[in-house]
Amino acid sequence: MLKVEGLNIKYGAIHAVKGIDLEVNEGEIVTLIGANGAGKTSILKALSGLVKPSAGTITYDGKVLNKCSAQDIMKLGISHVPEGRRIFAGMTVLENLELGAYQRKDKDGIKRDLEAVYDRFPILKDRSKQNAATLSGGEQQMLAMGRALMANPKILLLDEPSMGLAPILVKEIFNIIKDINAKGTTVLLVEQNARMALSIAHRAYVMETGNIVMSGTGKELSESEEIQKAYLGG
Ligand code: ATP
Repeated sequence: MLKVEGLNIKYGAIHAVKGIDLEVNEGEIVTLIGANGAGKTSILKALSGLVKPSAGTITYDGKVLNKCSAQDIMKLGISHVPEGRRIFAGMTVLENLELGAYQRKDKDGIKRDLEAVYDRFPILKDRSKQNAATLSGGEQQMLAMGRALMANPKILLLDEPSMGLAPILVKEIFNIIKDINAKGTTVLLVEQNARMALSIAHRAYVMETGNIVMSGTGKELSESEEIQKAYLGG
């Protein structure tokens, strides 16, 4: 479905991603784990057209995405929930959700998806008229995910959805990700919380300073001694 080959990303003299290959197959949850600054966010940004690769190829359903705009990529069905949520603070919850669907014209589909988002995140329905800035951290994460789902994506790119959340909410967010996937959306998940990410991922890649140093099923990696020592505190 999504294939990345020889991807390089540079910011001036900083070589953030150094020729990585990865693949996401339809129906999977794939996670990218690794230390701060390893290049995980940069990869998601390249996939959604927010940064241009300096070399390599990104293909999605056989189409090369390298030169596509972020808007075109979204239209193709790739939706990005950025790190730190980035909700629109001066707008209500409902306006934020509607913005997620701004490229769609199928009014009935939009209405159906709004109901589906409200079913998944009932708190967003309760708060629909409230300024999004007044939501709690967990609620803002739900809003950011809900907004991405309003684009009716085939692939959801999630950047650190558990960041800054209380443990009970972290669990809830991961359950929601699993459920979104079970209902047919493919997921590429970047996480610092390696334990939780590996527990829900079909496959995983481990990044260190711009390189992928290990890959395998979520189970294989969570059982690996090396991974346990480096990322799971065991
Ligand atoms: P984290 O888990 O801390 O978010 P990450 O693995 O997502 O880290 P990236 O955000 O992709 O890592 O950053 C990779 C490297 O590229 C880092 O060294 C970072 O400082 C650098 N970098 C990222 N964005 C820029 C930018 N716009 N300009 C310069 N350097 C950048």
